[in-house]
Amino acid sequence: MNENSLSKMPTLPVVGERPPILQGFFGQTEIEQDSFFKALGERPSLRIKQIHRWMIQGETDFLQMTDIPAGLRRKLAENFVPFSSQILLHSKATDETEKLLLEFPDKKQIETVLMREEGRATVCLSTQVGCGMGCVFCASGLEGVQRNLETHEIQEELLQIRALLKAGERISHIVVMGMGEPLANLERLLPALDWANAASGLGISARNITISTVGLPKKIIELASHKKPYHLAVSLHAPTDLLRNQIVPMNEKVGMQEVLNAAQQYQEISGRQVTYEYILIAGINDQAHHARELARILSGRQSHVNLIPFNPVKGLPWQRPEEDSIDLFRDTLRQGGVSATVRKRKGADIDAACGQLRREAARALPGVLKPLGV
Ligand code: SAH
Repeated sequence: MNENSLSKMPTLPVVGERPPILQGFFGQTEIEQDSFFKALGERPSLRIKQIHRWMIQGETDFLQMTDIPAGLRRKLAENFVPFSSQILLHSKATDETEKLLLEFPDKKQIETVLMREEGRATVCLSTQVGCGMGCVFCASGLEGVQRNLETHEIQEELLQIRALLKAGERISHIVVMGMGEPLANLERLLPALDWANAASGLGISARNITISTVGLPKKIIELASHKKPYHLAVSLHAPTDLLRNQIVPMNEKVGMQEVLNAAQQYQEISGRQVTYEYILIAGINDQAHHARELARILSGRQSHVNLIPFNPVKGLPWQRPEEDSIDLFRDTLRQGGVSATVRKRKGADIDAACGQLRREAARALPGVLKPLGV
């Protein structure tokens, strides 16, 4: 998301400071939830199941959970808010894209985005506060990684978005392309995705769940061994090690060949075609010879390339290429036998979860948000 699009997006009401005694029900451990219900002479497993069922249906007001006795509903409302995260900012673009800036009790903030298109509702999830990968074009990593998100925090992202849906809408797709490197937090991400996929959870088809990674080979293999047909997207961004080392600094430790080998293995084990993401930055990696080299290294692999024109980030010197060079790059790949598409731009705000909302908000609301660099 770039600055222009942020200023164009109306900001919806901001939730005020939460009274400190009210804990998020969803963020409580099972033991804490159990003891709350036991102290009231209630059966924890039944009540927890009922509350989760309501939240999955988008109802977050305890008082409206009508299959729970009225007295208990009131007790819940007196003692808890539904989530451990609170919505600091909620923005909605003209194309119906919605963005939440969520803050956890430790004051750490992340972004979660809802994108609507042709009957689809896609959630873009964050997996870490900040990012440790240091890709030179990305706003999320500008201040490094602060911490991993817990499983319940990733689930909360989905439930907070679920509560925004209109009647008849459902979350149909997930892309794990928000802040952070998902495979660096795989052990917490997988239970959240398995819950999102489960019939007793959000019931989202595993084939509609995409995990985007900078390319951590061992973790790609670990993901493959999980045996869920999640769609893998590998952020390649360059056709040679020399260039990739400059754009994606962690590549120096790994090397492209290993990344490509792991992606190939993922494809063989999961039976799912891997997508390669390639950000196009003017004058850096967008020349026809880059496209020819990319086609050469991908030829013979069943693969698809998703070209992502760079979205300007304040403070970074890079630029988006002209439309003509984007088209030429795509056509050169196709001539080289590689399937390629350019990621659609919904306004300028579809690449929203790049950590920029958090940065902008920190500038705009210094009294509410911690300044940058903390
Ligand atoms: N760490 C993971 C997921 C987060 S980034 C990964 O590297 O894949 C997900 C995608 O966001 C990346 O493929 C990148 O292309 C895109 N992205 C990040 N910053 C961007 C920017 N400024 N403009 C356009 N796309 C961007």
